Amino acid sequence: MTNPAVTHLECTICATHYEPAPGRYTCDGCGEAGTLDVKYDYAVVSAELTQESLAEDSDTTMFRYRALLPIAPGATPPPLTVGGTPLYVAPTLAGPLGVRSLWIKDEGREPTASMKDRASAIAVMKAQEEGAEVITTASTGNAAAALAGISASVGQRSVIFVPGSAPEAKVAQLLAFGATVVLVDGNYNDAFELSTDAVAKWGWYNRNTGVNPYVAEGKKTVALEIVEQLGFVSPDAIFVSVGDGSIIGGVHKGLKDAMALGWIDTMPRLYGIQAAGSDYMVRAYESGVDVATMPAISADTKADSISADLPRDRVKALAAVTETSGAYLRVEDDHILESIPKIAAASGVFSEPAAAAAFAGLEVAVEQELVGPEDRVAVISTGSGLKDISGVFAGVRASGAEPIRVPPSLGALEEAMER
Ligand SMILES: *Cc1c(COP(=O)(O)O)cnc(C)c1O
Ligand SMILES: [Zn+2]
Repeated sequence: MTNPAVTHLECTICATHYEPAPGRYTCDGCGEAGTLDVKYDYAVVSAELTQESLAEDSDTTMFRYRALLPIAPGATPPPLTVGGTPLYVAPTLAGPLGVRSLWIKDEGREPTASMKDRASAIAVMKAQEEGAEVITTASTGNAAAALAGISASVGQRSVIFVPGSAPEAKVAQLLAFGATVVLVDGNYNDAFELSTDAVAKWGWYNRNTGVNPYVAEGKKTVALEIVEQLGFVSPDAIFVSVGDGSIIGGVHKGLKDAMALGWIDTMPRLYGIQAAGSDYMVRAYESGVDVATMPAISADTKADSISADLPRDRVKALAAVTETSGAYLRVEDDHILESIPKIAAASGVFSEPAAAAAFAGLEVAVEQELVGPEDRVAVISTGSGLKDISGVFAGVRASGAEPIRVPPSLGALEEAMER
């Protein structure tokens, strides 16, 4: 049972149609690169969801767009508040960049502090719809935390595969949410493969990025929110940091939905931002090679949430940029880290390194004159700075900010303040 507006699933490579069914994840012919896209009959959607119906809807979570989501009409969303994050206007940042307007979408405000909650909310609902005993994913970071947290909120059992080298703090968060954590002696790829084998053996529900067709549907709600928050007028450009490419693919999907429903009449340019040390998509974009067959690179960046050897959602991620006349750009790690205090001090929004990369990418785009004085720009801050305090510290130190150290006397303080 799903949303009656869903017509079929369609392979992003060969366009083969599939019926939504338990166990149907990717395309039979194209294998794992053949991620499926959920297709809707927009006439059916618009019978229920309009700008007027939204104005009267008191639900401020991502489920205000449920007519555009692949879930059954009567299904109950998880109790955690997912979506409905603020879109802040940031004139102090816009001024020096010379852009007409700049907004920051603060996804650090999600329940487990990253945009992954939007994806996991849908995945957990699908798992429950199928009556799955266990939902599983491989990840070291925010996707794992989101899956563990949302699962905890509905009493769903989750099993999460992480590479043995995963930072203790992240493992602690998963264990606190009650997830079964499997430490795999190997890297992310090994953890991914083992989770895939476990799915095949025990029939667990598979939330893996690039495999599960529904997670991008959750992520697209961030774009629907931006459009609605701007009064159904699209920005000229949207900046998104890219690892596996699922977020940027989701943003593109949300904008295509908004176009199909007549909510906006121009498609914003999408800019995908990658760390220079994890630039698979930038390389593919620049060289024009086929991402369905381009081999993995060896990624290395301090922005751990966008470190990806082989972006799992690369087909959708490339289309998001090429079909909107945007670009893929790379940013250096130092630039990413320095952007954290820059954004925070000018706007009050606290970003983790992967999230700050999007703003650093905007600076590069301005330098390259891809974005200019006529542009109204939205930047998605995908996760909270509290996720990676050591990364934040590195950025703060590089910016020269330091505390004032004094003995506990007013005289000493007076002296120090004068310096
Ligand atoms: C996952 C993540 C990204 C990148 O999303 P992809 O779908 O992997 O491209 C960016 N920022 C944060 C904070 C993330 O957790
Ligand atoms: Zn296919």
